[in-house]
Amino acid sequence: MKRASSKAAKRSIGELELIDQIRSVKQARSSAVALGIGDDCAILRPPAGSELLVTTDFSLEGRHFRRDLHPAAAVGHRCLARGLSDLAAMGATPVAAFLSLALPAELLASRKGQQWVKEFFAGLQRLADRSKTPLAGGDTAQSPAGILADIVLIGSAPRGRSLRRSTARPGDLVYCTGHLGGSAAEIEGMLARGKMARLDGGQKAHPHLLPEPRLTVGSWLMKRRLATACIDLSDGLSIDLTHLCAESDVAAEVEATALPLHPLALALGSTRGLDLALNGGEDYELLFTASPTAKMPRSIAGVPITRIGRITRRSRSSPAITLIERDDSRSPLKPGGWEHFKSSNR
Ligand SMILES: [Mg+2]
Repeated sequence: MKRASSKAAKRSIGELELIDQIRSVKQARSSAVALGIGDDCAILRPPAGSELLVTTDFSLEGRHFRRDLHPAAAVGHRCLARGLSDLAAMGATPVAAFLSLALPAELLASRKGQQWVKEFFAGLQRLADRSKTPLAGGDTAQSPAGILADIVLIGSAPRGRSLRRSTARPGDLVYCTGHLGGSAAEIEGMLARGKMARLDGGQKAHPHLLPEPRLTVGSWLMKRRLATACIDLSDGLSIDLTHLCAESDVAAEVEATALPLHPLALALGSTRGLDLALNGGEDYELLFTASPTAKMPRSIAGVPITRIGRITRRSRSSPAITLIERDDSRSPLKPGGWEHFKSSNR
């Protein structure tokens, strides 16, 4: 932990234990981290010919998670997954993560709080190991209200080769990875039950609690120059596709019947399932475009790839995104989402 010793006198015992906990997170080895936790700064040495990509994400109690519903391990997992998904969307490889964690005094002082922190780091570490992302530094502080985690993710990609939102072209086909609507369906269920969720059944059973960032797919698309543009699905298809179309100055058509609904979303009925797939958010799948002549595999690294629409020319007289339904009726797809908690969960 940087500055741990110099600030030690000002820190509570709880904070020092917390720093030890962060230090003890087993570090994934990375040749790009020349110096990790322990000095005033980390030193990064990205591969020759590469450039660095940086993304940062807040995880706030009551906004992004609830302490009474989300297991601490899932909060740690999600904290890292969100940033990794942004790296995946640009075809980048993780280099290092930096975590700033603020915890309320009552959590630092209690055994229950210490257990929460331990499980938070265990969840974060499992994904860090799997994605080869070293935790190379960070800071801790006492929070005046609630748990607050801010994570910075650094990735690398060959110079000039990162995938962008702004490079889709009319005629391109639109694809997504995995399944949609599962995250919203899972959290709706959690809210209805109103008690701490259990992490049974593995990652696939928990699209909200344990989303899988699509790093291998993003990197694969980048290396083979298969995608013309890419974004990750954090806010929901209707919003994220609107971002991609706006940045690329194009429009898009989406076929409702082509959308790969997650089994949890489908279980709520086809109408509700479709709504969650379009507007639910936090699926952390990739949404990308490719030339109609590109040979797209049905799956990449075991992740299904589904064609869901196409890019069209932008015109003043037609909507940015058109939804084509089962009976061929066409309607404008407005960017929409909803708030799962009282305050927004995004
Ligand atoms: Mg993103």
